[in-house]
Amino acid sequence: MSERIEHFAHLISLENGKASADAVGEASYAAEFFRWFSEEAVRAEGTISHAPSSGARILVQQKPAGIGLLITPWNYPAAMGTRKIAPALAAGCAVIIKPAAETPLTMLALMPVLEEAGVPNGLVNVLPTTHPGALVDHIMDDPRIRVVSFTGSTSVGKELLRNAAGQVLKPAMELGGNAPLIVFEDADLDTAVEGAFQAKMRNLGEACTAANRIYLHENIAAEFISEFVARMSKLKLGDGTDQRSDVGPLVNEETRTKVARLVEDAVAKGAIVELGGYAPEGPGYFYTPTVLSNVPDDADCIHDEIFGPVAVIQSFTDQDQVICRANDTEYGLVAYVFSKNMKRALNVCEQLEFGMVGLNRGIVSDPAAPFGGVKQSGLGREGGKDGMLEFMETQYISAAW
Ligand code: NAD
Repeated sequence: MSERIEHFAHLISLENGKASADAVGEASYAAEFFRWFSEEAVRAEGTISHAPSSGARILVQQKPAGIGLLITPWNYPAAMGTRKIAPALAAGCAVIIKPAAETPLTMLALMPVLEEAGVPNGLVNVLPTTHPGALVDHIMDDPRIRVVSFTGSTSVGKELLRNAAGQVLKPAMELGGNAPLIVFEDADLDTAVEGAFQAKMRNLGEACTAANRIYLHENIAAEFISEFVARMSKLKLGDGTDQRSDVGPLVNEETRTKVARLVEDAVAKGAIVELGGYAPEGPGYFYTPTVLSNVPDDADCIHDEIFGPVAVIQSFTDQDQVICRANDTEYGLVAYVFSKNMKRALNVCEQLEFGMVGLNRGIVSDPAAPFGGVKQSGLGREGGKDGMLEFMETQYISAAW
């Protein structure tokens, strides 16, 4: 896969619209899951310990859980698939992957690559469909399926969890997010602006990790906004497959309509448009990079996932208060903190009710790290050692020794 990054990147841009540099980033990230988990596969360790009360030995080992059903979203058609396939194979499980209806081609293109790499036929099966509900229910009813690993919206995740209960399937759920990004007055401003830009604009904001709410300490707010707007206003919109485009279109009209509605709602409630705030004329599902400041707490974009190129800015003065506001969401996937004072920054990180925190960084994703959220953002972790355990069951042998 890593020898064919351009091929995969082109396909991702064609089917989901993302700009080519972003697509190259995704394809490389996606391939790294195979590298990391192939290295991890050989380290399936167990333990032997003494049972103090009986004198027996406790042997504990991890075994493959069984066949996995993998369901992935359209926003990262390659990486959300490989983040599940690679640990499943490393754990010793066969899988059926159902890609999103909007983006089936990338996963189909991966199959000949897996075959060429020596993966036996039938171990990884891809099943595109435009009618996921009935098909997924049917597969989940089959007792040979033991794991259901889903990445997508919280509403569909909840439905799948209810269905998984029927066969007592092992669930792994990577769901929605509403990430806060907090910039303290002692942050390095250039680092914070660049970090906020990455956290907001990666994949055009169509990411569960996208900074949905940006909280600026009031002492640095004006300078931050001016630098951030300058950074955002340089972006060139265009066809995602054209190397000259910095940002491509949104995935479909429904997403664009939702983004436009959230902006209109915020402006009607008093937000100031610092940049953009409209869909340009002409073909394509484009929406201009947008910066809103002075956004009130009752604006819908504070509570809903925006999933578009709209930066929503609020200001704060008090540390405890901003932590409360950041935690005031049903989601708990990722938060971002910018401060040069490590003691304070780590203290704030610990108080944030999120599965991941980007500290002086606008990106958290890494194949070696446990990606995942708390609250309504999900169950379980993908990536790192935890990612493989999602496809394994613990067996304990009580041995007379
Ligand atoms: P979605 O929930 O609509 O679809 C996700 C997948 O589920 C698709 O393959 C879809 O075909 C399938 N699906 C839809 N309805 C189904 C049903 N009734 N039964 C079975 N399968 C069904 O989500 P989306 O719009 O594709 O993706 C956006 C969402 O995904 C956002 O909420 C985003 O935050 C989330 N997401 C989360 C992560 C994460 O790692 N936490 C990563 C990427 C995206």
